[in-house]
Amino acid sequence: MGIRLENVDYVYAAGTAEEKKALDDINLKINDGEFIGLVGHTGSGKSTLTQLLNGLEKATSGNIYYEEKNIYDKGFSMKELRGNVGLVFQYPEHQLFEVSVIEDVKFGPKNLGLDNLEVEMRSFEALKMVGIGDDLLDASPFALSGGQKRRVAIAGVLAMKPKILILDEPMAGLDPAGRDEILELLAKLHRENDMTILLVSHSMDDVAKYVDRMIVMNDGKIVLDGEPRKVFKYQRELEEIGLGVPQATNVIHKLNVLGAGIEQECITPKEA
Ligand code: ADP
Repeated sequence: MGIRLENVDYVYAAGTAEEKKALDDINLKINDGEFIGLVGHTGSGKSTLTQLLNGLEKATSGNIYYEEKNIYDKGFSMKELRGNVGLVFQYPEHQLFEVSVIEDVKFGPKNLGLDNLEVEMRSFEALKMVGIGDDLLDASPFALSGGQKRRVAIAGVLAMKPKILILDEPMAGLDPAGRDEILELLAKLHRENDMTILLVSHSMDDVAKYVDRMIVMNDGKIVLDGEPRKVFKYQRELEEIGLGVPQATNVIHKLNVLGAGIEQECITPKEA
């Protein structure tokens, strides 16, 4: 059933001189099993969106439904949401702090209140998934390479067995080989475990080859949403007539306000 956002706004520092609308009327459905690339320039609202999706921040207005249950309803368990929507932050290796790789991975599942055996099993399995061998289990996380650290941090989230995995710029700061490793890992998790993945990146080119669907954000709004080849085609056509996606979206929006009823091929209805 996935996760659905309905008319979601998010405003930072409301009522102050620094007030900033980071999300502006977001309507979006993430279906089970999709591999989505969420792309857009720095400041377009991608990180804010990820934080709303796992309940770290609350929408200023609008609603979010996890498996069709409103996460802002009183009876809804935020713990359930956080267990099911795993968020890998930017530079997640900065949060590694335990004495060994295995202890670091165990941290998340331990916090879910699982018994020791289950915690161990999940942690070993997660490390295997990310390609960290048994020889590194007792190593200090700080002794690992940049790419290895990143994979251990991802394993920490995978060990919580989330249904939806969200990664905020997981390739940032890695060399090309490290970037490919991460992308291949995500493609494998999607292929073999049918995991729903939302991959946040400022680079369309990096993610286009891997994802089934690309969502482009600009200034807090979703401006394109569709198959990567359609998104690229649309973008190229706009460039040929000298318009960027945001300007074109504004033009279409204005025309629609005037009653033109224009639909963009790529802005697909997000219903399942
Ligand atoms: P992205 O992840 O696409 O780079 P963000 O979600 O981080 O975008 O930011 C969206 C907008 O919200 C930007 O204009 C940013 O400056 C602003 N913003 C982000 N975090 C804060 C914050 N803690 N306080 C005030 N403004 C913020």
